[in-house]
Amino acid sequence: MNPPVIQKLINLFSKFPTIGPRTASRFVFYLLKLHSKEFNELLNSITNLKKAIKICSFCFNPFESLENSTETLCPICRDKSRDRTLLCVVEKEIDLISIEKTKKYQGLYFILGGTINLKTDDNTLRVKELKERIENSNFEEIIIALNPTTEGETTALYTERILKSLQIPKGKRLPKITRLGRGLPSGGELEYADEETLESAFEGRK
Ligand SMILES: [Zn+2]
Repeated sequence: MNPPVIQKLINLFSKFPTIGPRTASRFVFYLLKLHSKEFNELLNSITNLKKAIKICSFCFNPFESLENSTETLCPICRDKSRDRTLLCVVEKEIDLISIEKTKKYQGLYFILGGTINLKTDDNTLRVKELKERIENSNFEEIIIALNPTTEGETTALYTERILKSLQIPKGKRLPKITRLGRGLPSGGELEYADEETLESAFEGRK
């Protein structure tokens, strides 16, 4: 049995994405061996993460915010030159970064925060927030850019169904809903796609 202090930390690390209890305990024993300089550097970085990073009130993208700043929007949402008729729905932050890297997409984003997990029935998708964003803006096209995996596909279909049932006020049109074109390897993930593939998937969207 591990001492409770160690076990507690192992349990915390085990909650990290892709980290199981075995890797988690490696982390803890690694930390125990660290010199105090490195240890404190790590501690400070973690503390600063929460202090210096805010989550965008529109798209949920994390951004660095100066102390005492009241800014609630990330640099992308703030950027007046971005096309406000396009909204790209992605699963997670890394996907947004991958798409930004192609420099081809100039619209806004929305980070859904996950996929539907059929096994655990744990549904923490920001669907309500997404509906609000669309109802309160003038988007002409919503691009569903989820991973071409089984979970991503299920989530895309689910999101599409919800968006099609949106109550759009009279005089406004329901935005066109598109999905990324083929080319992305099935079962693969956006974050591992090269820029060219991602670019052509965007161009081929329908
Ligand atoms: Zn934003």
